[in-house]
Amino acid sequence: MDFLDLDINLTKEDKMLKANANEFARKVMRPIAKELDALPPEQVIAKGSPFWTFMKKAYALGYHSILIPDAYGGMGLSPLQQTIVFEELAWGSVGLTVALGVASFPAFGAAMVPEETMIDEILVPYCENKDVTFIGCWGITEPDHGSDTLMPGHPSFSNPDIPSQCVAMPDGDDFILTGQKSAWVSNGTIATHCALFCQMDKSMGHAGGGIFALPLNLPGVKKGAALDKMGQRDLNQGEIFFDNVRVPRKYLIAGPEAYEALLEIVLSTTTAFMGVVGTGVARAAFEEALNYAKTRIQGGRRLIEYPTIQAKLFHMLRQVETSRAISRAAFCYNQNTSTPAEEYSVMAKIHGTQAAFDVASDAIQIFGGNGLTKEYLVEKLFRDARAMLIEDGSNDTLAVAAGHKIIETYPRRD
Ligand SMILES: Cc1cc2nc3c(=O)[nH]c(=O)nc-3n(C[C@H](O)[C@H](O)[C@H](O)COP(=O)(O)OP(=O)(O)OC[C@H]3O[C@@H](n4cnc5c(N)ncnc54)[C@H](O)[C@@H]3O)c2cc1C
Repeated sequence: MDFLDLDINLTKEDKMLKANANEFARKVMRPIAKELDALPPEQVIAKGSPFWTFMKKAYALGYHSILIPDAYGGMGLSPLQQTIVFEELAWGSVGLTVALGVASFPAFGAAMVPEETMIDEILVPYCENKDVTFIGCWGITEPDHGSDTLMPGHPSFSNPDIPSQCVAMPDGDDFILTGQKSAWVSNGTIATHCALFCQMDKSMGHAGGGIFALPLNLPGVKKGAALDKMGQRDLNQGEIFFDNVRVPRKYLIAGPEAYEALLEIVLSTTTAFMGVVGTGVARAAFEEALNYAKTRIQGGRRLIEYPTIQAKLFHMLRQVETSRAISRAAFCYNQNTSTPAEEYSVMAKIHGTQAAFDVASDAIQIFGGNGLTKEYLVEKLFRDARAMLIEDGSNDTLAVAAGHKIIETYPRRD
């Protein structure tokens, strides 16, 4: 469905990017995501699975490098264009869009400190990769540490009594890495590289972390089984274990001195990204509901003729539009500044993912019983959207951390 875009300054190039991404989402992502949704998790990533068809086509188009600067071979899109493309891809499938987004995470991290090793071993090979033999993931969550790993600035983040389950200790020129990351690591069982966020200085609690761009073929790395879950079933997830892994120092992006500040920068991108993709899911659900309401007859009239349905559809579209507005604004602001306003990205994440969930739920209501069946897309959108309220930080705890920041640092000026 062609959509009004309230941004009257969109260029021809912006509109072309949007149309191309929508075509890819409609023709490639939607059918593949539907197929993958019905498979057990190990079959989603099995050889010959349509998941790999999707990844190969996406890599060929450069969509795996949307977040990477063009200096290293990334797509070279402006922040606004990145939001435009990501919204369309998520309209096709949020799970597959997240798979692509996290695939670039080690390169995204490496671009923050672009030293020679990072450029030669991570950034350029990743951007040039077309046969999907370079897949990244983001390992931050641990079995006993979810929300508390994503609350930089909050007092709990610096509490030395909260020990991490994944630790890198210096050993000569190298680090010895022990512990594990949780089953929630997206791309966890298929990744070749990990943007690993782990502890280096226990006396600083989570704030004493370090970030590595780590090849996962180092001796001592093991992967768990693919996770079976309710929504975003097309997104592979699984544990990664580190048994005394010797990690050369060249893979270190940053240590405890910069960890908390860099994590804020990373989160200001990931949370705004979640708002953008939430907008795509919400829009998909709205469109499904609108089309259905135009044809379903009840009480001798089409559903669309009932004022309550009209009002519901209006409020659904209102949520789509407000999500896009805050998500685009937060994403673009935070990509264009060196001191990100992370709280605005958190607003985008909470607003966009809640909109995705609420609009998908309203869409099911408009579909009636049909909406609960696998036959209609809204059932999948609802499950996918439910996961988003937890993904990349539970909305509740992101609000706690952002609320704390506002109280500590406002009034904020540029
Ligand atoms: C689809 C999906 C993709 C993901 N991808 C990745 C990934 O790529 N890499 C990765 O490392 N992780 C990933 N995650 C993990 C995700 O970041 C965590 O699930 C999230 O941070 C929440 O952590 P948790 O699940 O351990 O819940 P917990 O932290 O155990 O929280 C449980 C509940 O308690 C509440 N709670 C926790 N602490 C507080 C507090 N201080 N105050 C008030 N309430 C609190 C939370 O809001 C929540 O409702 C993903 C998760 C999902 C669902």
